[in-house]
Amino acid sequence: MSSVIETQEHRDLRTAVAALGRKYGREYLARVAREGGHPDELWADAAKLGYLGVNLPEEYGGGGGGIAELSIVLEELGAAGCPLLMMVVSPAICGTVISRFGTEAQKRAWLPGLADGTRTMAFGITEPDAGSNSHRITTTARRDGDTWVLTGRKVFISGVDIADATLIVGRTEDARSGRLKPCLFIVPRDTPGFSRSLIEMELQAAEKQWELTLDDVRLPADALVGDEDAGLLQLFAGLNPERVMTAAFAIGMGRYALAKAVDYAKTRQVWKEPIGAHQAVAHPLAASHIELELARLMMQKAAALYDAGDDMGAGEAANMAKYAAAEACVRAVDQSVHTLGGNGLTREYGLASLITASRVARIAPVSREMILNFVSHQTLGLPKSY
Ligand SMILES: Cc1cc2nc3c(=O)[nH]c(=O)nc-3n(C[C@H](O)[C@H](O)[C@H](O)COP(=O)(O)OP(=O)(O)OC[C@H]3O[C@@H](n4cnc5c(N)ncnc54)[C@H](O)[C@@H]3O)c2cc1C
Repeated sequence: MSSVIETQEHRDLRTAVAALGRKYGREYLARVAREGGHPDELWADAAKLGYLGVNLPEEYGGGGGGIAELSIVLEELGAAGCPLLMMVVSPAICGTVISRFGTEAQKRAWLPGLADGTRTMAFGITEPDAGSNSHRITTTARRDGDTWVLTGRKVFISGVDIADATLIVGRTEDARSGRLKPCLFIVPRDTPGFSRSLIEMELQAAEKQWELTLDDVRLPADALVGDEDAGLLQLFAGLNPERVMTAAFAIGMGRYALAKAVDYAKTRQVWKEPIGAHQAVAHPLAASHIELELARLMMQKAAALYDAGDDMGAGEAANMAKYAAAEACVRAVDQSVHTLGGNGLTREYGLASLITASRVARIAPVSREMILNFVSHQTLGLPKSY
């Protein structure tokens, strides 16, 4: 990659993370997932090298970089077959929101741990009856003297079992209906009334998804992050990095699958040339490579805008990057599985499970259609149907 697009520092970071990724690889992550464990060794090693907190401020133990650096880390781990999904939520969303809007005490309490990987934080916005329409979330925060009392339900929240706390998006009682004025609360895992049940997923992943019930969860006043009236601005400060990181996740996975398919196509021979000599095999792989490269360019743009403080510009670019990366990933995985013929579906080659995994980025954290809606309305000025 040219240094005009990426600095030498960024390229060095890519090389170093790729080396760590190779040490672990797909087999490691597949084994951990099969055994119902978590990639603790990789998490700890990545943390020790400063990769997990690379975006967090130096004065709180982070690397002083931005989402550009953090997305490089996730993409390269993914390209090596061992992405760390919790990076999307813990340092990227929660770390960002706390660094930008937290009090000094919250920053001291959380950022050093998020940066050195000793603590993780999950993120919960999705609700069973709201889904893509976050304006409809009903998790409600009521003031009771010096405390907050939270009631509500969440679904598909990743990693709640391993996270020390979950950053929960709710709304205050006064703003119970109408346009969402979100407020964000840090809910420690063992808070009374905060319970979870496992959602069985058809995903080969170490990170599990949970349904959460908040039944009169009582929290101290300082559980609220930022201003209760700051609204969407605060939330989007965390959601734009989430989109950039989901793009990184998808690009990494797409690159991993594509590399497997290219290797296979170079050596598998059933006629006089390896199958990669047939354009019907080669061209879709070439097209996938182009699509992944294009998606990465958009991701770099989104990260650069975000890191430069342009939240509005980053919002549009991060949506487009997430869209492009998810679509490129789905197609790359599909084509890679096909390139391996029957072996594409064997356990030994390990690609088939990516068919399900690659769909995650198309639906989460915001679906393909909701991004198309955003671009139709916000960018193109077309009328809204809903
Ligand atoms: C593996 C995984 C991990 C996740 N982790 C988290 C997490 O950690 N925290 C969290 O808060 N959430 C998480 N989610 C939830 C995720 O963000 C939601 O699944 C996503 O926002 C979509 O919501 P939904 O599933 O309710 O789908 P719905 O909103 O019910 O949508 C269903 C379908 O309808 C389409 N649709 C809906 N509205 C429109 C419209 N207006 N126009 C056109 N099409 C429309 C959608 O595109 C989609 O295809 C996770 C999900 C998955 C699968």
